[in-house]
Amino acid sequence: MTAHLMFQPDQARQLQTCIHCGLCLPSCPTYMVTGREADSPRGRLVLMNSIDRHEWSDRSGHFVHIDRCLGCLACETACPSGVPYGSLLEQVRSFQRREVTPLKLGSRTILRWTTAPVLRRRLTRLLAWLQKLRLDRLAVRLRLLPRPLRMQLAGLPKLPAKSFTAAAEQRFEPRHPEGIHRETVALFAGCVMDSWFANVHAATVRVMQWNGYTVIVPAGQHCCGALHAHAGIDTATGAKGERVGDMSAFSQTGAAALIVNSAGCGAHLKHAAADGLPQVVDAVEWLVDNGLLPPVHKLPEKVTYDAPCHLFHAQKIVQQPEALLRAACENLIPLPESEVCCGSAGLYSLTEPDLSRQILGRKLAMLEKVDAEIVATANPGCQMQIQGGLKLDGQRRQVRHTLEILDAAYSLDETYRRVFAE
Ligand code: SF4
Ligand code: SF4
Repeated sequence: MTAHLMFQPDQARQLQTCIHCGLCLPSCPTYMVTGREADSPRGRLVLMNSIDRHEWSDRSGHFVHIDRCLGCLACETACPSGVPYGSLLEQVRSFQRREVTPLKLGSRTILRWTTAPVLRRRLTRLLAWLQKLRLDRLAVRLRLLPRPLRMQLAGLPKLPAKSFTAAAEQRFEPRHPEGIHRETVALFAGCVMDSWFANVHAATVRVMQWNGYTVIVPAGQHCCGALHAHAGIDTATGAKGERVGDMSAFSQTGAAALIVNSAGCGAHLKHAAADGLPQVVDAVEWLVDNGLLPPVHKLPEKVTYDAPCHLFHAQKIVQQPEALLRAACENLIPLPESEVCCGSAGLYSLTEPDLSRQILGRKLAMLEKVDAEIVATANPGCQMQIQGGLKLDGQRRQVRHTLEILDAAYSLDETYRRVFAE
């Protein structure tokens, strides 16, 4: 019997459930672009098997095709045999980082500067200063930086003056004028979402309050570690005491649910949720499944929805975002290939810039065809990737979080505006 190099026996058995039917190939974004078997899910599973059975001579060559995988999990959705591709990929990436190729310095630096609180605050201040002096626009227009960095700069939202979480726990009471009162929920603020997308958190809290929920935002929150897990980094050893993955802020809240509004964080937390945590639920999933109060007026703009992979494929949240957007928008237009990855995938747009650009190009072409004014999505990485791509492509469309769109629709009603102006 061959000893396994990477997988536990049950994982090795799961790998063997692939019957090589190829039904996953047409849904794989990297296979769509390169047309190469090695860049398909089936090809990558064969490579994983060969590495696991010590049948590999080219140590880094085998990993080129693993590195090109977005981890989008479209193959899991397509697979009739139920091959758990995502957990196998995570195991392979963690083996790769330990034994073959450590994460490159540039990627490690970006991870630390976006997820470690002190460094992220410094980076945010620098970026906000660049935005204030409009130097970000200049750098993009004059092409002063490599394209992947220009795209990130162009895709950045207008940075808020301060992050959403405060030094002490915040509590927001229900604010529906008819006195609707439902459960208490806790909001997961995250890292990048907390510093760069505070407006999305503010919109999330308002729509929750309007729907009758009490929202608590505990102090002392930390990055969930989704980006680290995606890159194959062990958060305990890789985070250098920065408490990545520490969810203890939520253990005593007594909340009915831990509400997450970032698809990547939600998928990771559902997968890795620790004992004592409230049930992890995506914000849109929670609102729709528990009976969303429909807005009185609908937004008139043409809106389309791009499904984040970690919502659609990883969490299987398919119907709820569209149900919410149908309630909030007069003109909701279906986006062809909405469930196909935009090429963001954590650090992918920086580590695999050419493939990421080609994958994004397909998305931008679909958006141009549909010609919506607003693109709805629900993940910070997707929002920045698509917004940056649109700007560099000269398309004047706004990318907005689904909950910002709901908040904007509620705001068309005078009572909502008055309640939250008080
Ligand atoms: S996770 Fe996405 S990119 Fe990777 S093999 Fe599956 S479909 Fe292809
Ligand atoms: S992963 Fe699933 S869909 Fe893809 S070839 Fe294997 S069995 Fe078929």
